[in-house]
Amino acid sequence: MIKANNPKIKSWLDIPADSDFPIQNIPFGVFKNRSGAGRVCTRIGDYIIDLAKVNDLGYFADLGISKSVFRNNFLNDFMALGKKTTSAVRNRISDLFNSRIKKWNTRELVKNFTHDANKVEMLLPVKVGDYTDFYSSIEHATNLGKLFRDPKNALLPNWRHLPVGYHGRASSIVVSGTPIHRPKGQQMPAGAKKPVYGPCRLLDFELEMAFVIGKESNLGQPIKTEDAENYIFGLSLFNDWSARDIQKWEYVPLGPFLGKSFASHIAPWIVTMDALEPFRVKGPKQKPAVLPYLQYEGEKNYDVNLEVLIQPENSEGKRVSLSNFKYMYWNMSQQLAHHTVNGCNVKVGDLMASGTISGKNKNSYGSMLEISMGGKHSIKMPDGSERKFIQDHDTVIMKGWCEKDGVRIGFGEASGKVLPALK
Ligand code: MN
Repeated sequence: MIKANNPKIKSWLDIPADSDFPIQNIPFGVFKNRSGAGRVCTRIGDYIIDLAKVNDLGYFADLGISKSVFRNNFLNDFMALGKKTTSAVRNRISDLFNSRIKKWNTRELVKNFTHDANKVEMLLPVKVGDYTDFYSSIEHATNLGKLFRDPKNALLPNWRHLPVGYHGRASSIVVSGTPIHRPKGQQMPAGAKKPVYGPCRLLDFELEMAFVIGKESNLGQPIKTEDAENYIFGLSLFNDWSARDIQKWEYVPLGPFLGKSFASHIAPWIVTMDALEPFRVKGPKQKPAVLPYLQYEGEKNYDVNLEVLIQPENSEGKRVSLSNFKYMYWNMSQQLAHHTVNGCNVKVGDLMASGTISGKNKNSYGSMLEISMGGKHSIKMPDGSERKFIQDHDTVIMKGWCEKDGVRIGFGEASGKVLPALK
């Protein structure tokens, strides 16, 4: 067992019982300090722990990490240290706050390096290089195939043979809490003879998880499925905003473009693969058998509960989906093996998103397109208003958490408010 994952460890910090951030989590992020500079941090309970300060005080001295790694606007330099070092940092943080380890005088110094999580601003954790979005939930791909093509042949012929994906846009990935404007673009309304231009009318979320690359691969050298997880630093929540009307008109034949590239929200925390180790589960059986380069051994899916809420302005929110990352047909190792099988290399900070994560029943669909059946049905909000898609001033909130042996590892939130389209 990874030392820091031991469910028996208790912290001397006060941690709320339902916290996403028990001492067994120790995710990594970046916060803005009082002088406005980025600092690499972790979170335990409601304490943000400034790792630059912890490093300055010598607690990581034996790990030989330079100051600039933590005095940094992004996690990239930290991730690039390699898992041997980043795992050692996580284990050390666990020791520093473990109630049974009294080797260090952290208790006296805690005020010097902690902040109230409710009072600090979290920054975009990763400087995203390339962003790839997959389409790996069989339930989602089937639902969309039924809506847009042939209900009898919902999946296209390639779907069960390779993890379908496309290259997305990295520049518009923003951290949770950043408001976005409704996008504008070309649409072809039903029955119209020529396209119109204007604010998107069918604005949608996509419930996804994203993994972050923490190790570079070489151009020309594919990553094997058995090696793939060594390249993955950790996971975060991801809302891949989608303008369905823009998407529908533009996507033929080269796939998603402006209907996707206007914004995506990521949670401020990257939960490490180490922390997720206890939550491995078996993936769904793949039929027909996949090609040898996509075959894998062991449990490569992860049991992460996922939730989506819509929060209208000045009114109560409503949960519109409860899904789980374990439903993914194609796992991350297969996605990475496929991504690099042609020799394409990956770099530290690259982001790969799962694709919309839908479950089998309609309470578990990961997009409004599926929840409203293409706009046929609406859902009632607590204030009496109805939703088929996302309206101006709505905030979409995504949450995720794993639970086992009395330990809850949470991902925080990926939340974003939609402002009206700019004039
Ligand atoms: Mn997507």
